[in-house]
Amino acid sequence: RGGFRHPVCVAVMVAGSGAVLPLAPGRAEDWFDHDGQITRRPVRALTLSALAPRGAEHLWDIGSGSGSIAIEWLLAGPRLAATSIEPRADRAATIRANADRLGMDRLAVVNGRAPDALEGLMQAGAPRPDAVFIGGGLSDALLHWLWQHLPPGTRVVANAVTLGSEALLIAAQAARGGDLLRVELAQAGTLGPKAAGHRGWKAAYPIVQWSVTR
Ligand code: SAH
Repeated sequence: RGGFRHPVCVAVMVAGSGAVLPLAPGRAEDWFDHDGQITRRPVRALTLSALAPRGAEHLWDIGSGSGSIAIEWLLAGPRLAATSIEPRADRAATIRANADRLGMDRLAVVNGRAPDALEGLMQAGAPRPDAVFIGGGLSDALLHWLWQHLPPGTRVVANAVTLGSEALLIAAQAARGGDLLRVELAQAGTLGPKAAGHRGWKAAYPIVQWSVTR
């Protein structure tokens, strides 16, 4: 007696073996080609938090290096856009390649030096940035230029690692307000000969981060 035949369904799940891009900013450094000049993962996470991407906003990433900040900005939402400004041609090429590999064609790369290279971004009709990150090229001239040209309400975040750039940010905060954050991180590693089995904290250079609304 035939009766009702159930079709037999066999679901086969195949787990992919490729790396899965995490959803949160502060992705591992090996997602980005770089020559050693890259904002480290934890500092990058804090920086993206301070930049606070939303909606269809546009970021200028000044001193873009590997492009990791601009790319993580773009990964935060499908309508976000960004422009990288980087004077070294080899790094500008790396930024483009890193962005393309992660499908981020919403990144424009400008091979030039701030503040001069920013003039070209102020042409009529060009999008004004909603947020500006300064990861390189920090100077009084750059801050002066930004305060002359950026509309009020623009969020500005700058990271300093050298004493000179730290001093500049301390003075800038006194003059223009905003928040200063000092980030001191250390990672556990081996101390002395590996065979001895001792571990210790390896401190990174402290970072001073200034966040301000123009
Ligand atoms: N945030 C980057 C690393 C920045 S390293 C990343 O995560 O990859 C600082 C960068 O600033 C360097 O690539 C350097 O070439 C660039 N730089 C130096 N002076 C500059 C200037 N005047 N304008 C723009 N970029 C500058």
